[in-house]
Amino acid sequence: MNCPYCDYSDCKVIDSREVNDGIRRRRQCLSCGSRFTTYERLQPASLFVIKKDERREEFNRNKLLTGIRKACEKRPLPTGIVDKLADDIEAELYRQGKAEVPSAAIGDMVMERLRSLDHIAYIRFASVYREFADITTLKQEVDTLLGAGAEISPLPGQLPLLPTEELAGVIKGGRASRRGGRAKTRSGT
Ligand SMILES: [Zn+2]
Repeated sequence: MNCPYCDYSDCKVIDSREVNDGIRRRRQCLSCGSRFTTYERLQPASLFVIKKDERREEFNRNKLLTGIRKACEKRPLPTGIVDKLADDIEAELYRQGKAEVPSAAIGDMVMERLRSLDHIAYIRFASVYREFADITTLKQEVDTLLGAGAEISPLPGQLPLLPTEELAGVIKGGRASRRGGRAKTRSGT
């Protein structure tokens, strides 16, 4: 860290404190004695996504963007909203400060936002991401969305701890739960 006044390469830290998502340090130049402040953001050098099969892949914003864009294709959405959504999610991921994030957690973040933005985009994304086993499950999801209509709340404050439980809740809606009656899923894909 070079002094912004005299460019000397050494300084001492006279105070440091944690702020929202980083550390602010008050520094003093060892040559000219000037004081200055630096701000370090806590952010992993790189963020890895844990795929379903446990493989790790470096987080790729473009990939995220492509997925959201596809779901939002030809929907009457404001320009730039897709990029903003991807930005939001990326920022939140880095804010969490983890080195690895399960792909399911990212998918949930997208779904959560799309659900309050556009139902069709949400269903499109969900159908790819959740791999709805059959048309019945998909229909239930649509029915729930239509039925819930205005009740769908804007972004809830926190991420679900158990994403699949949350979806089960969405699909079930007000209906009685049928835990035993799970749809058949194809295995080994
Ligand atoms: Zn200096």
